[in-house]
Amino acid sequence: MKRPFKNILIIPVITAVVSVGLLMVTEMNLTTKNTKLYSEFNEDLKNKNISEVHLTKSDTISVTLKDGTTYKTDNPESPSLKADLLKEGVTVSPGNSTSLGVIGRYMFFFSLLAIGGILIKRSYTGTKGIISVDSLENSSAENSHLTLNDIAGNEEAKESVMDIIDFLKNPQKYREYGARMPKGIILYGDPGTGKTLLAKAVAGEAGVPFYAMSGSDFIQVYVGVGASRIRQLFKKARSHGKAVIFIDEIDAIGKARSNSASGGSDERDQTLNALLTEMSGFNETEGIIVMAATNRLDILDSALLRPGRFDRHIEITLPDISAREKILNLHLQNKPHENIKIKEWSQKTSYFSGAKLEHLVNEAAILACKDNSKDILDIHMDKAYSIVLAGYDKMNRDYIKDSEKRITGFHEIGHALVSHLLLPMDKVSKVTIIPTTKGAGGYTLSIPEDSMYQNKDYLKKRIMVMLGGRAAEEIIFGPEKITTGALNDLKESTSLSLRMVSQFGMGDSLGLLSIESLPDKFSSSMSTEVIKECKSLIESLYEDTKKILIDNIEILNSLTEELLEKETLYYEDLLKHCS
Ligand code: ADP
Ligand code: ZN
Repeated sequence: MKRPFKNILIIPVITAVVSVGLLMVTEMNLTTKNTKLYSEFNEDLKNKNISEVHLTKSDTISVTLKDGTTYKTDNPESPSLKADLLKEGVTVSPGNSTSLGVIGRYMFFFSLLAIGGILIKRSYTGTKGIISVDSLENSSAENSHLTLNDIAGNEEAKESVMDIIDFLKNPQKYREYGARMPKGIILYGDPGTGKTLLAKAVAGEAGVPFYAMSGSDFIQVYVGVGASRIRQLFKKARSHGKAVIFIDEIDAIGKARSNSASGGSDERDQTLNALLTEMSGFNETEGIIVMAATNRLDILDSALLRPGRFDRHIEITLPDISAREKILNLHLQNKPHENIKIKEWSQKTSYFSGAKLEHLVNEAAILACKDNSKDILDIHMDKAYSIVLAGYDKMNRDYIKDSEKRITGFHEIGHALVSHLLLPMDKVSKVTIIPTTKGAGGYTLSIPEDSMYQNKDYLKKRIMVMLGGRAAEEIIFGPEKITTGALNDLKESTSLSLRMVSQFGMGDSLGLLSIESLPDKFSSSMSTEVIKECKSLIESLYEDTKKILIDNIEILNSLTEELLEKETLYYEDLLKHCS
């Protein structure tokens, strides 16, 4: 709770600035207010009214009369002036002593200010600096002119905001149907993938104002200010009727409360509560949508994700090869360029985010401009590529080696192929090696129909699909080269096998006993039995899984090669290889 104290420091700073300002104004007035024509000066000289003259090399000279008044007049720059003045008994001083004095005084004040500033800045370590309480006044609405066409790739995400745009355009229509739109949408994904861009495009497409703030703006201030900023933000947005409110870095206020007694958590709670209150305060049919962005969904407080709050979650992924080609094209479109091998560049830029691709094109444009080249050429792209790579830290994913890509490729195809062969009804709609916030690669199942029951055969096959990734790794790279990539698969398959054995009565030796329903003293003595049963179930399923993959090794290889080349495969691609 040190922050309110720091607030007080701002007051003397402001006072100092204001007084220096006043001082400057009055000094200026004193020294510059009175000016006279040179002829009038000559009159005064003739009438012996002048007591002192400051001769300078500037455009004007200052004159002090015997009655104490001062004025300025044009500097004739005549070499004889000094002699004439001296002859008339006028004191002649070189330079302008008063203005030197003023400069001295200013310098003194400014150094005081600078020292004060540095001291205050120090006491603010860990923050981005002083944010004035009313900085929100400046965060006025922006009218976004972006459209969905300014976003390349991320088709699924664009698809998921279509109805939101329609709703913002015409909330009336939705009101008539009694439809409840989500109040809040969370966009999650790696930095630079275009989350802000998407939110702006929603506002742009719908033609409503866009209000943006960052979660960290709410936190790095004094207690209570974050909450009041939230209220102001919503008040402003609502005064416009329809609006998109965008909160970047929502995790700064919405991180799940941990036990660690980190400072400022009070502030975060207050801010979060204010946000939730504001969100429940407006009606779903009003035409206000809150969009928030985060790099990770899993660290958010569950209070934020409840229905009626941020209940729609849209993943924004890194672009795959074809999306990267589109993004490069988009950013080159309004720049002069010639013979750039865009396809090759999209191959070379795996794991680049949209922001990084934009950075690449921009660097190339700067280099072309430096070279006075008429167009951006491949050589500029080459140089820009090294610059961009060097600028990002070495731990970055761009440096994922090709060998690691191959492991991911075989692993993912392992899952997809086993699924496709054993459970054709669970359509594999997508396989990718593009990392997501959940980890490297992934495959997406679109399960056609919800059945009320899942039979033993189905559950065993599901476990085999989970084991398919590890099995493929072992077959291709050997038992010593298996990786940690199967961590989550093993967690899931273990827990499913445990439920089969201990809850669903699908085990062999334990039969129909539900271990969970047994009192502790009985069930604990069964635990080795249960584990043994799960182990043998999983082991035999793992052998079966490997056998299926070995029987289809050619498809495993060819599909993986295609995946490595295209980075994302769809259902149709799988069909082509398996027919
Ligand atoms: P985020 O909010 O996810 O960190 P931004 O929306 O700020 O990312 O993206 C930064 C910039 O990167 C954008 O202004 C745009 O120029 C570029 N960019 C990112 N993704 C895309 C995309 N899918 N298509 C076109 N440009 C993109
Ligand atoms: Zn896996």
